[in-house]
Amino acid sequence: MIRPLQPAPNEPPWQWPRAAYIHIPFCAHKCGYCDFASLAGVDHLAGRYLDSLEREIALSLGEPREVDTIFVGGGTPTRLDAGQLERLARIIGRWFVLSPGGEWTVEANPGTLDAEKADILAAAGVDRISLGAQSFRPESLQVLERHHGRAEVESAVAIVGPRFPRWSLDLIFGVPGSSLEDWRRDLEIALDFGPSHLSCYGLVFEKGTELWKQRSRGEVRPVDEELERAMYESTIDRLAGAGLAMYEISNFARPGHESRHNLVYWANDAYFGFGVGAARYVRGIRSVNTRELPAYLRRIEAGEPAIGPTEQLAPEERARETAVLMLRRTRLGLDRDDFCWRTGFDIDQLAGAAIERYMTLGLLEDDGTRLRLTREGIFVADDILAAFL
Ligand code: SF4
Repeated sequence: MIRPLQPAPNEPPWQWPRAAYIHIPFCAHKCGYCDFASLAGVDHLAGRYLDSLEREIALSLGEPREVDTIFVGGGTPTRLDAGQLERLARIIGRWFVLSPGGEWTVEANPGTLDAEKADILAAAGVDRISLGAQSFRPESLQVLERHHGRAEVESAVAIVGPRFPRWSLDLIFGVPGSSLEDWRRDLEIALDFGPSHLSCYGLVFEKGTELWKQRSRGEVRPVDEELERAMYESTIDRLAGAGLAMYEISNFARPGHESRHNLVYWANDAYFGFGVGAARYVRGIRSVNTRELPAYLRRIEAGEPAIGPTEQLAPEERARETAVLMLRRTRLGLDRDDFCWRTGFDIDQLAGAAIERYMTLGLLEDDGTRLRLTREGIFVADDILAAFL
């Protein structure tokens, strides 16, 4: 049986969630690079899925819970039709009470969001939309198997802009066949739309994806490392020039427009997660629901948890993981006192050798209070962060 979770009085945010993630797996098409729990061709299961989602949330929470952030991701949440989206908003509104000034984000893909759906979301209290553009270059979109173009992004922005105070665009650089000039053009087009937040990810060939198979067969070639670095470097500089400062390795925002929900992850704070493939982190225990939609539906309909792998980190492991996540925050970095308060560990005792080594190499900086990656450190962040583990 699924048992309701109960908060203890005054549990800190790294123990008891103040954030909720809801997963909607439906997509128009499975993109070649996609490793998310997403499915195409199963829209007929959407009604049953919403029933299960509501049941999972109700049984897990027992009563409505106050949170500071809600994030509805996918998949493509806006693949749901207007009636289904309205129902999803009602379910969320029934079980989550957003604290004053809270943030409610919904992911959307160009071509799936119309004015009716946007009105439903805005009326429900959604105040932030994250739009997956990825690229405006037809050849890159073809490699990524994204079935939309600049015109669809333009229409989506025209719908989103007037209705939501904050919105973000997702872009991907390092697409096979693209040049530095191509990427710069993508950035300029994105900036012309006027987003207050941009997420720019280097393309990852996730094992098992269609794109990974194509690379294994020699049908696509990744861009070389130097070009990828130049693309990343030009992103940091161009976006800073446009007032969108980097605040996390892949994220850029105008002041006050950072994603509060994602900042929860980078502080290693607790969060609820519901839906197929959704992860949660409650009281130091991280668990992930099955990624198989039929199994998820079957188990929840039987009143059973849909949980798959579960892990509980030892205090030191958790502290190391917290250090890595905090250092991803390029502006906030790792505040020594905050880190000690949250983990019970002194960062200098825990990782003194790594700190000294990377400070000497000019890859980490220390103002006495906070540790941060330097500009050069940002380019080799993976290596540095691995040393903290
Ligand atoms: S739209 Fe997003 S979630 Fe859906 S298949 Fe494409 S990348 Fe994956």
